[in-house]
Amino acid sequence: MSERQIIREHIIEPGTGKAFEVLKDQILRIEQIEGGQCVDFNCFNLHDYKEFMHTGRTRTLYGLNPSKGDFMWSAPPRERPMIYILQDTLKQNDVIFPYCSAYMYENMFGLSKHTNCNDMQAEAQREYGLTPDDVHDSFNLFMNTGVNEDGVMYIKRLSSDPGDYVEFLALFDVLAVPNTCGNDVLNTSNYSLKPIKIQIYQATREELASVPYTASLASQRTPAQFKNATIKADRELSADPSYRPDFMNVPIEVSELEVTLSDAEYDILNSVRLSELYGDDDGDALRDVFFAWWAENFIGDPHSR
Ligand SMILES: [Zn+2]
Repeated sequence: MSERQIIREHIIEPGTGKAFEVLKDQILRIEQIEGGQCVDFNCFNLHDYKEFMHTGRTRTLYGLNPSKGDFMWSAPPRERPMIYILQDTLKQNDVIFPYCSAYMYENMFGLSKHTNCNDMQAEAQREYGLTPDDVHDSFNLFMNTGVNEDGVMYIKRLSSDPGDYVEFLALFDVLAVPNTCGNDVLNTSNYSLKPIKIQIYQATREELASVPYTASLASQRTPAQFKNATIKADRELSADPSYRPDFMNVPIEVSELEVTLSDAEYDILNSVRLSELYGDDDGDALRDVFFAWWAENFIGDPHSR
């Protein structure tokens, strides 16, 4: 394996964040120095900040704790992999919880000026001209979370050691913005704030070759395909009098399709039909059975979707 070239190194001090340009084929490593520190993370297309990381899409594909081998996707309709999680020594990351915020500390603890992730992200992004409204839902690295049997989300103490790290490989040029979580009054970072080490490397040929294939499809749109590609430059909202709705595939057409079942097939349908949902309607029952079978057998691996 060829040697990696280090491009940049930086220490993020407690209570701060920093925006880094990470170009295509470069690796961003976010590393524990003392251990026990949660890191919140935002990511934008460096050349078009309106394309940004979408934790919801990522959560749907990989679950609540994305890790090594998963991609972080941009929001629909761009919907393409932005960065690939190349390495993850702890495998303890979160896409359930939002940022901690100034309001949260004031409302829950009476602390009106507490350091918080939302304000740290906004301040770090300001270097690139972004506003507090541009801060998007965060990917929370090293954060020890889950959902219990009653459906209640929980945060546990963080178990990272010094030297634990997560590495992202940029699939196109991005602005990556990590900040050290400011929560020292809950167990998120074990009740204290610590620094975090950042390194940026050039990926080796072997590392680039290790990224799984993802299909490029026509539904992944660019601003050139948007009906309105102009970024609105003022804050007030007002209706465009020339607007005429133009939705795809409308009106939706429903057509009848005749399906013939043998007696044996009809017996099978009767043995699995969901009468509580569809009564005695054979068509509704068969449609459910068909699509349930199709979804179970033919929906692909999210890594190749
Ligand atoms: Zn936080």
